[in-house]
Amino acid sequence: MALCDQGYLCDICGLDVETIDESDLYLRYVLGEVDPELLHVTQERHIRCNPTLAQFVVADGFEPVVIEGFFAKANLDPQFVEEEEARVTRGYHRLLVLPGSGLPLTEYMLPEVRSRWQTAPPESRAGSAWLVSNSVSRAEVSELPGQPL
Ligand SMILES: [Zn+2]
Repeated sequence: MALCDQGYLCDICGLDVETIDESDLYLRYVLGEVDPELLHVTQERHIRCNPTLAQFVVADGFEPVVIEGFFAKANLDPQFVEEEEARVTRGYHRLLVLPGSGLPLTEYMLPEVRSRWQTAPPESRAGSAWLVSNSVSRAEVSELPGQPL
């Protein structure tokens, strides 16, 4: 196997993450949980191999993931579960339409995630300045304090 293929192997089960709609990494990126700067150096993982997040995907064609224990949906606050299901499922549906959409990587995130980052006060969006303005140079960005999230 070519060395360049290694980055697409799931770090849990070791199998290929073949398509974007089974990628936990891209799901979390779409949800605004992965720093764009770190996207290409973060290990791939199947959505199903991250069951604490996967349990919130409620979609046709996606076999429900059920876990037990402290982080199981059954043991979480029902309102939180409802909000997480809505949020994560929206992200999953976005993954399904991304292939062939022609969108650049910078626009993969859910619209409300992007606008949240864009309307955040400057000190909290330093790492996401690339989303706001292409005219900000890397040097300027790296000198801004703080990190999003
Ligand atoms: Zn896996």
